[in-house]
Amino acid sequence: MEEETPLTTHPPHVLIFPLPLQGPVNCMLKLAELLCLHDLHVTFLNTEHIHQRLLRYSNVESYFKRYPNFNFGTIPDGLSDNNSRTMDQISNLINSMEEVTKPLLMEMVTSGSLGKNSNKPLSCIVADGIFCFAVDIAREIKVPLLFFDTISPCGLWTYLCVPKLIETGELPFSGDSLDEPIKNVPGMEGILRRRDLPSFCRTKDINIPLIKLVLKEDEHLPLSQGLILNTFDDLENPIISQLQTISLNVYAIGPLHSHLKSKLSSSKPPTSSNIFEEDKSCMAWLDMQPPNSVVYVSIGSLAVMTKKQLIEIWYGLVNSGSRFLWVQRLGSITEPEDELNEVPLDLFEATRERGLVVSWAPQELVLGHEAIGGFFTHSGWNSTLESLVAGVPMICWPYVVDQQVNSRYVEEVWKLGLDMKDTCDRKIVERMIREVMVTRRYEFKQMLNRMAKLAQDSVSDGGSSYHNLNRLIKDIKMMRF
Ligand code: UDP
Repeated sequence: MEEETPLTTHPPHVLIFPLPLQGPVNCMLKLAELLCLHDLHVTFLNTEHIHQRLLRYSNVESYFKRYPNFNFGTIPDGLSDNNSRTMDQISNLINSMEEVTKPLLMEMVTSGSLGKNSNKPLSCIVADGIFCFAVDIAREIKVPLLFFDTISPCGLWTYLCVPKLIETGELPFSGDSLDEPIKNVPGMEGILRRRDLPSFCRTKDINIPLIKLVLKEDEHLPLSQGLILNTFDDLENPIISQLQTISLNVYAIGPLHSHLKSKLSSSKPPTSSNIFEEDKSCMAWLDMQPPNSVVYVSIGSLAVMTKKQLIEIWYGLVNSGSRFLWVQRLGSITEPEDELNEVPLDLFEATRERGLVVSWAPQELVLGHEAIGGFFTHSGWNSTLESLVAGVPMICWPYVVDQQVNSRYVEEVWKLGLDMKDTCDRKIVERMIREVMVTRRYEFKQMLNRMAKLAQDSVSDGGSSYHNLNRLIKDIKMMRF
């Protein structure tokens, strides 16, 4: 690392505040570990709801044991235990945090436990890009603010272009003509169609809560001192260049999970940050399967499917002849009254023969297992990067927000798999699984091997993400408000 001249005698103390969902928490904890490894002090602020779940399902002690300079803090999100924190309630959660969490956080960082008179005053705040209120808080205590958007940069760029899409009349649009090309997202001409825009764009009314939140985020992002991204130059260089037009400093330091792995000695197992109970039994099951024979199916921590969709996917998997490991998260199957039909027995029979269903898996380990040959995914950004790094071709079935953009990029730009968005038919599932597992496997694997190597190079000594992380740490030490 380059020599630094810190501004104060205190070691820099960074407050990291993630959006309280599994994906952002995973991602920001990895950043926290990287900062700790570089001798910065970190307070990782969880909502009480998330922290309770981490305490229940992860070994949080391992963070304290490994990093004496690491601490967790907690704060209420303003919702009661009975309130839902699912994707359809996301704007509720964020509005509640603006109303309830913001004043509590303000108190915490002014007169409270993280205030000026505490023994470790804050030198920087890293907050999720959706937390616009962080701008006021950082201003009040006069410390630099960095936004970290843990969604994909290609997705984020489309968020930032929403005002232009509205201005030029490309938004709103009705549910039809979804193949109409989108013209006003610079750098994505010829790539995006209406159907590839973030899910909230499919509305006739731009006054819906999610669009309002995104417009507010668009206004606030440029007010921070910088923007941290979980990507790497060779994957998203054109998008990073676009984002540099709205932020003073862009730090592309991903893929964070491999960045952290490259810095930890191989004797140290990765820390866990599950907010669901992990079922490790699938690893022993995978050990018994032939190489590249298993399709891993997971729709992440928030996506849901109807029972009808479940059955279509199930038939597609079974009819493809592949083995499969399927994460059916508790609460991920919705059951509208007209779809309450039972799962046909032949699906259970076939699953007993060559499948396994668990409620939550150690995904990074699963994707790295030699038995895995394909990933049926909802295209969450963490899952996409984990699949890319592990060299596993994807069948993308996006659910919400940036996932529509990610799945388009996976098929059309990066050529790492297939995009199944807006369909859920057993014949299509079967065909796509056969393509990914057999007929087009070589083609996808070639692209993946290339991309996985570029990802590895980026986080290795001298690589772009390695360099950007060093720059970020240097800037945190030197940055003035
Ligand atoms: N994950 C996991 N086990 C599972 C399913 C998901 O550990 O059974 C992890 C996965 O590795 C990823 C995160 O949960 O890091 C999901 O984040 P992503 O951005 O892919 O999707 P989200 O859940 O935010 O929709």
